[in-house]
Amino acid sequence: MIIKTIGIVGSGQMGRGIAQSMAMVGYKVILSDISKEVLKTNVEKIVTSLTRQVKDGRISLNECEEALDNLKSATKLETVAGADLIIEAVTEDEAVKTLIFESLTPHLKEDTILTSNTSSISITRLASRTDRPEKFMGFHFMNPVPLMQLVELIRGIATNQDTYDSCLSVVEKLGKTAAQAEDFPGFIVNRVLMPMINEAIYTLFEGIGSIKSIDESMRLGANHPMGPLELADFIGLDTCLSIMTVLHDGLADTKYRPCPLLTKYVEAGWLGKKTGKGFYDYSKNPAEPSR
Ligand code: NAD
Repeated sequence: MIIKTIGIVGSGQMGRGIAQSMAMVGYKVILSDISKEVLKTNVEKIVTSLTRQVKDGRISLNECEEALDNLKSATKLETVAGADLIIEAVTEDEAVKTLIFESLTPHLKEDTILTSNTSSISITRLASRTDRPEKFMGFHFMNPVPLMQLVELIRGIATNQDTYDSCLSVVEKLGKTAAQAEDFPGFIVNRVLMPMINEAIYTLFEGIGSIKSIDESMRLGANHPMGPLELADFIGLDTCLSIMTVLHDGLADTKYRPCPLLTKYVEAGWLGKKTGKGFYDYSKNPAEPSR
């Protein structure tokens, strides 16, 4: 199937990054969100990002205008239903995602492909709540989407080859690289990355190191571009907790037990960079450990 129009549900850090990248390569994009205010703010963030790229000479004014022409936004979920490809990028909560797919299903075109940007939730289970498990798969972008090269493509048990090939052609048009992953909790990237982040939080919880020393150790000692706690803040601590919970429940191994300190931060509403506070306090410049 040749994909021309893309509907994106959820305009948070991932949804807006996906929308911007798709609009830049010529897809007609409809970006939607449950909240009108959030949607407006996030569309403004896309405009700011593209305008900055024009100022920095990374794209031309014409490319910026064409991308913005390709982008529409809507709060009504059904507005995205006419797209060739739908990418769901809402909060990492299976009940919320399931409700979206169930609500979209009666309004879809016959050949619309449904995908989820979930970091860890079963693609097969999400697909089973729709009328088209064979046209459903995982389309897992990395954060920040415009900069990161990898996209994980995850087949559910019923995903057919046409669906996989159509999504692969989108990844190629974006100039990104696809990694094929099987549908098991966390897929590849988060199966490896998230236990490492969780272990860094345990290291803090057990008093083995401070926030600064843990991050510095991994930056300078393991040559990671960001420390694990800094990275957790960047991903979102609610998302990290949801992924650890999916790994713990899905693989039934205590080694995936979410660190109680991670739970505590989420309970406090300290979700990381997106809320201004997580392991670091972003109201300070440069950011400082929050406690
Ligand atoms: P976010 O919190 O930044 O954004 C979530 C958005 O979903 C918000 O704008 C919210 O208003 C919207 N939303 C919530 N319920 C909705 C509903 N019922 N209908 C429409 N919109 C709704 O989260 P994010 O970091 O963008 O993560 C989104 C998804 O992408 C999650 O599944 C996450 O696991 C996945 N993901 C995140 C990262 C990361 O680094 N943050 C990386 C890869 C994948």
